[in-house]
Amino acid sequence: MQSQGQQMLETAQTLILKTSKRLNVSDEVISKLLNPNHIHTVDIPVIMDDGRTEIFRGYRVQHNNVLGPYKGGIRFHPQVSQEEVQALATLMSIKTSVAGIPLGGGKGGVVVDPRKLSRLELEHLSRAYVDKLFMHIGEDTDIPAPDVNTTPEIMAWMTDEYVQHMKSETETPNPSHKQLSEWAAAFTGKPVHLGGSLGRTEATGRGGVIALVALLAKLGRSKESLTIAVQGFGNVGYYFSKLASEQGYKVVAVSDSKTGIMLKDQAELDVVATLQCKTEKGALGECFCESGACRIDGGKTLMNDELLTLPVDVLVPAALENVINIENMKDIRAKIIVEMANGPITEDAYEYLISQGVIIIPDVLANAGGVVVSYLEWLQGTKNERWSEQEVNDKLHEIMTAAFERIWNQSVKRNIPLKEAAFEVAIERIVNEMH
Ligand code: NAD
Repeated sequence: MQSQGQQMLETAQTLILKTSKRLNVSDEVISKLLNPNHIHTVDIPVIMDDGRTEIFRGYRVQHNNVLGPYKGGIRFHPQVSQEEVQALATLMSIKTSVAGIPLGGGKGGVVVDPRKLSRLELEHLSRAYVDKLFMHIGEDTDIPAPDVNTTPEIMAWMTDEYVQHMKSETETPNPSHKQLSEWAAAFTGKPVHLGGSLGRTEATGRGGVIALVALLAKLGRSKESLTIAVQGFGNVGYYFSKLASEQGYKVVAVSDSKTGIMLKDQAELDVVATLQCKTEKGALGECFCESGACRIDGGKTLMNDELLTLPVDVLVPAALENVINIENMKDIRAKIIVEMANGPITEDAYEYLISQGVIIIPDVLANAGGVVVSYLEWLQGTKNERWSEQEVNDKLHEIMTAAFERIWNQSVKRNIPLKEAAFEVAIERIVNEMH
């Protein structure tokens, strides 16, 4: 039986293969699109708190750099595998290309359960990962970022380790501020005081709302009476809900890993008050919040699966992969789905929903806001500049809207769904750059 990583890789490669064939791409170029340029596998020794040395397996897959330096996060998880990292690196090449930014695709990972490490052990592991891969990383070559279980603090340790190496490699013990800023641009997702970008925290949710608003404009749908349900109330789900509400869209249901909530008569949830209430009470299920007031009996508690099948206009899976699948696809009632999580719809369910006329904004476009602001962080670093949050948001808006427009136009021109159009646009851009 295939592992999850193998399955992910096969799915990504099949999509690229099918798209490339449709576009009459040559076999030689298809092979370059399917296979990564480099797979770096390292054994990372870490001195543990009890004095033992433990070895962790780490990866950095550099998939494609035709459009610019490799770009992609580093994941710390016990289920990390080479195939999974390769699949994610492949999808990053597609995502950066869809976004229209001058970056390629890469991804990293370490097989570790970070909850079992002390803070010091985590720092040692993060620094040792950079020690092992230092020669492959750099602001002009490969730019890592946070991913599952890796935080801005981990990026700060990694950046510091990288900068120490650069000081000794270049024999520059006292680099200028400009030089330091350039070196630090080798990592994104850093804390703001260490060169991170304002606006990064909200970027993925914000990008998703921009894509949804652009789609509704194309469909001529007004926001009046349009209802939205969001699965996942973490970084992406929360900011998507909050920013959509701020723009006058009606979020009627949200859920986290334990439960979902909905007010009576699909009234509009107060997203900010809901998060405050959840933080105070520790559970979303008691937070029926409307106009700043929260009650414990003001609505209905939902099972996670129930949220997905609510009679809403827009469904936003923003938590896990494969949540819409062969089991529940026939019960989905939303006519628009915004894939904010990576791969929330299985292939079978995708085919079924498309055949039913459901419009799906694919993950490679819908959740590209994060990598777009990572790109903006990299630009600020390499230019030794700091931009205001408004400036960052304006640029994100410009890039996301242009990306949506290109994909929508391709979809109309070729009479294909947005996902196929996104892969076509991405692959065409990479292939054109190869010639
Ligand atoms: P997060 O850890 O901040 O939040 C995840 C949320 O999902 C939590 O609220 C959790 O309670 C909820 N959840 C878990 N299981 C659930 C279930 N069965 N039903 C409903 N909710 C459930 O993670 P995040 O950063 O918000 O990422 C969410 C998704 O978006 C992931 O697929 C991630 O790969 C993708 N993504 C994130 C970013 C980013 O910038 N954070 C960028 C691109 C894609």
